[in-house]
Amino acid sequence: MLNTIKQTVLDSGLFECGEVKIGDIIFHEDIRRICEDNACGGYGRTWACPPAVGTVGECRERCLSYDHMALFSGKYDLEDSFDFQGMKMGMLMFKGAVDRLDESIKSYLTDYRILSNEGCIRCARCSYPDSSCRFPGQLFHSIEGYGLVVGELAGLAGIHYNNGPGTVTFFGAVLWRDL
Ligand code: SF4
Repeated sequence: MLNTIKQTVLDSGLFECGEVKIGDIIFHEDIRRICEDNACGGYGRTWACPPAVGTVGECRERCLSYDHMALFSGKYDLEDSFDFQGMKMGMLMFKGAVDRLDESIKSYLTDYRILSNEGCIRCARCSYPDSSCRFPGQLFHSIEGYGLVVGELAGLAGIHYNNGPGTVTFFGAVLWRDL
């Protein structure tokens, strides 16, 4: 299954993919405190970010209920390190690729979860917290919001965290259970 998922990741327009052993994942409470400081502006804005995703302990329990995890990345070119428009475009392209990945994976897996970089931008105005998510089947929780350090996971997965000057890299993960 891992090789099939890796191929699906590449076919979806993403860059790299590697397995992370479920038992090796470290869930960091201090990353949640960074979320709470809201430097990214996503805290408390959508169902994909804390506090809506639950405590770090609940996120840990959720992840550990799966048998496998594959970390994947998307790499996008920038004009220079101040190319904020390029970063924004890269994020949009990454979100599109994650949607394609989800569409393909659901043709052969039923019991899986996708985590994605940062919050959810699917709706112009999120329903949080007034009513439930409009697209729960396409709600991909924030990987950082789970208390996960993507640089650490990239090392465990054997994929690049930093792809060099003039690039930006985003990360997500697929968790799945044995059939
Ligand atoms: S899909 Fe829409 S309602 Fe659901 S978390 Fe994303 S923005 Fe909010």
